[in-house]
Amino acid sequence: MSAEDSPPEATTSLNAARRRRDLEWLSDGGPVDVLVIGGGITGVGVALDAASRGLTVALLERGDLASGTSSRSSKLVHGGLRYLTQGRIGLAWECARERATLMTIAPHLVRPMPILVPLTDRSPRGMKQVVTLIWRLGNVMRAAAGTSRRVLPPPRRVSPADARALVPGLRTEGLRGGILSWDAQLEDDARLVIAVARTAAAHGARVVTYCEVEEIHSGGVSARDQVTGERLRIGARHVVNSTGVWADRLVRDVHLRPSKGSHLIVPAAALGGPRAALFAPERPGRFVFGLPTSDDRVLIGLTDEPLEGDPPDEPAVEPGEEEFLLGVISDPLARPLTKADVIGRFAGLRPLLASGRGSTSDLSRKHAVLVDGESGAVTVVGGKLTTYRAMAEDVLRVVGSRPDGDLGPCRTRNLPLVGAASWHELDRLAAPPRLVRRYGTEAPAMVQAARAEGRGFEPVVEGSHALEIELSHGIAHEGALTASDLVDRRTRVGLVSSQRARALRAAEEAFARSGDRRGISSVGG
Ligand SMILES: Cc1cc2nc3c(=O)[nH]c(=O)nc-3n(C[C@H](O)[C@H](O)[C@H](O)COP(=O)(O)OP(=O)(O)OC[C@H]3O[C@@H](n4cnc5c(N)ncnc54)[C@H](O)[C@@H]3O)c2cc1C
Repeated sequence: MSAEDSPPEATTSLNAARRRRDLEWLSDGGPVDVLVIGGGITGVGVALDAASRGLTVALLERGDLASGTSSRSSKLVHGGLRYLTQGRIGLAWECARERATLMTIAPHLVRPMPILVPLTDRSPRGMKQVVTLIWRLGNVMRAAAGTSRRVLPPPRRVSPADARALVPGLRTEGLRGGILSWDAQLEDDARLVIAVARTAAAHGARVVTYCEVEEIHSGGVSARDQVTGERLRIGARHVVNSTGVWADRLVRDVHLRPSKGSHLIVPAAALGGPRAALFAPERPGRFVFGLPTSDDRVLIGLTDEPLEGDPPDEPAVEPGEEEFLLGVISDPLARPLTKADVIGRFAGLRPLLASGRGSTSDLSRKHAVLVDGESGAVTVVGGKLTTYRAMAEDVLRVVGSRPDGDLGPCRTRNLPLVGAASWHELDRLAAPPRLVRRYGTEAPAMVQAARAEGRGFEPVVEGSHALEIELSHGIAHEGALTASDLVDRRTRVGLVSSQRARALRAAEEAFARSGDRRGISSVGG
């Protein structure tokens, strides 16, 4: 069957029924122009870039969208300040430019975030000078990238009283004020992945989750449907391997040296309900941060530990990492945080390219695009959520440079993601703020659906901010196939350990109500 026989669907909705149709179409032979392996931010970014140029695209993900590193990040859309401390101006510039783009194409998911570096009588020597210099350079990048100072104001000194107003949990003794600056924060990394995937789907990309690629060959891939266990061969003119820390399993020539980064979640009240992120110095130019989230919590990160052996699917936060994070973040606080404050924890793996000896934090955060001599597959590894769009553009540049690869121009810099609208328009939507922040312009339709169903405004579980309507929306439109998809990557209730089991039960009930339980129990079988 050719693409003409079965035109791709032009709706953003992903669900079990569409997955079945897409799989049927793909197993009938394709071939597609571009086959993307991996449904993290890198893979969905490539799928969107390719599909929006009019190419036929399939994306195969062995689990759920964002089930790898892309749901385990610090959720920053950062202007690359860290790279400035390392003198890596090009990398910082790419971050600042892509941050500006993301704030335009996904304003519902990205917002300005104030950051406070407290200055105390215990601050490391030279820290104030280093921070001031780097923050100022970051501000120059911000202006050059075209982000208005009204959106991300320039850095400035604040008084001790202002510092405490921003982070009430700060210790007053020895507090000399702070440096206030601005960067951008994602509402949720997994939601960015889902928004990009659905935008790609609206351009005809066939996004199939729970389908593992077992082998890449010169004319395509062999894969296994994780729901039915069936094997299929899919033809493709170009194969893109965007499987993150697992990239070397499919393409042997790629050498990765992953590093682990761990986070803790504490209630916002533990830091006095901060209005700004707290950056506590570990040493000049290196911080442990506490990022306030929109659901009254603070995300504390980040460690950087080289990983030995095979990358696990569910990396664990080690007690030593927890102790380190709690210790550094507590230093400027009146009440030190303890293990008892921690309500959730998660770790992610950075897919860093091995580049000789040295600690992984010194290895490149820049992405790399590598072509396999044997199969011709293009592997893309490294990089960041912030720069996914530029990474995809680089991949398509490689594809486009091939003899049969006339692709047309990249369109993603100006392509709004599902749910996008200006902040002004978003402010005027008739829907609860949480829904607007997470679903943008789709929020009012969700409200109507909840009213029509006579339910949906209740929390998924007591104490969570997620609403029941998000569960049915996840099933009907966001490609959730299992209870874990809903709990761990659509609503993120699963981040709080004490709520996860109850939330999974609520998600099972939502599947039962929707009558859409196809394949759920057999996933992974
Ligand atoms: C702790 C931490 C914090 C971070 N914080 C930030 C941040 O604040 N801001 C930022 O911009 N960046 C951040 N990053 C970087 C960013 O999160 C990653 O660069 C990015 O998520 C990597 O995405 P990916 O798609 O390449 O990999 P992944 O998200 O891991 O996706 C790879 C996918 O491939 C799938 N897969 C694997 N094998 C197969 C197969 N055989 N067949 C089909 N599918 C397969 C996996 O299931 C997975 O879903 C952070 C990274 C870490 C580790």
